[in-house]
Amino acid sequence: MRRENGGMNAMKRPMRGIDTRLIHAGEPEPLIEGAVSMPIFQSSTFAYRGGTDYHALRYIRLSNTPNHDVLHRKLAAIENAEAALVLASGMAAVTSTLMTLMDAGERMIAQDCLYGGTHDLMRHEFQRFGLGVDFVDGGAPESWARALTPKTRVFYVETISNPLMRVADLRAAVSFAHAHGLIAIVDNTFASPINFRPADAGFDLSIHSATKYLGGHSDIVAGAVIGRAELISRIARTAAHLGGSLDPHACFLMHRGMKTLGVRVRHQNRTAAAIARSLSGHAKILKVNYPGLESHPDHARARELFDGFGGMLSFEMRGGVGAADTLIANLTLPISAPSLGGVESLITRPATTSHSGMPRADRERAGINDGLIRLSLGLESADDLLEDFGAALEAC
Ligand SMILES: *Cc1c(COP(=O)(O)O)cnc(C)c1O
Repeated sequence: MRRENGGMNAMKRPMRGIDTRLIHAGEPEPLIEGAVSMPIFQSSTFAYRGGTDYHALRYIRLSNTPNHDVLHRKLAAIENAEAALVLASGMAAVTSTLMTLMDAGERMIAQDCLYGGTHDLMRHEFQRFGLGVDFVDGGAPESWARALTPKTRVFYVETISNPLMRVADLRAAVSFAHAHGLIAIVDNTFASPINFRPADAGFDLSIHSATKYLGGHSDIVAGAVIGRAELISRIARTAAHLGGSLDPHACFLMHRGMKTLGVRVRHQNRTAAAIARSLSGHAKILKVNYPGLESHPDHARARELFDGFGGMLSFEMRGGVGAADTLIANLTLPISAPSLGGVESLITRPATTSHSGMPRADRERAGINDGLIRLSLGLESADDLLEDFGAALEAC
């Protein structure tokens, strides 16, 4: 059976499993010159095809080259959504989405423990353009109505919060948003499409920093927004003017990374669970935050919503900041660096990296003590990581 003439065969291809879709969904039919791996079209512009609509021209900034198109089809397929758009970073996805959906004078309700860049964008830059925000506790739906105004347009949450790994009441978020005519958006970066598919839960849009799990190799910065076709096409038009488009070479790297998303994330889920269990039983550890642990306040909700509990965890040592820094220095496998979702384990103290911009009093109110350590599990052997943590803790 030759795939080059496979139009009919392609239609019959079984693609119920997300791993099959990661490999085959959205791929060109027939294969381009028979190439098994999607070629890179490093061309800023394409020959005029007729017509008068600006957005029908093919140009990298319009996010409609063959490398964009294949990613859009694949991303929509893996989250069971109608459409998708890739952008130059996770933050480009956030800004392009919110600046499409809101006009000056309008407001959004957002979870109070968002990714630092998103939180600061909403608190500072957006205020200058008249886009307002009201923060709420994602786990307290009974308090949300107090934040509603006649100008509220968007409800914005994250699947798993950083760095305490809290899980908002995502089902309540969708019901609340839709009961009040708001667009329900979730940043699904931490869960990844392997552990959670927002469209299935009723979200209108999901946002990703593809820099993390989707790309998966700590070698690109990229973003995506996935969801209802009518919204995605409006966002694509705004994004074409905001200008945060993804370069075809970065599209290629993201595409290549995505093919192994399933095997990577399931491995990372298992390793995170093993490390979380081992740390939570250790005498020098005060507290471990991992939604897969029964002791986690949102464990029941995570169990109901997710297929896996994720590859991220955080913990505190009894010895505070000093012990935390000693442990990070003693570890030989995890690299001390911010970011997450790559093949190498990364460890960081959020007070010095992701949350350093937040005043200490605000951090402490949010439960982020200066000694808190955040760990992103990579693809090393779990036994080696367990041994490394055991030895590093011994020497603290
Ligand atoms: C990293 C991150 C972002 C921002 O993504 P960039 O690709 O760095 O622009 C947004 N949301 C979450 C949850 C993230 O972890």
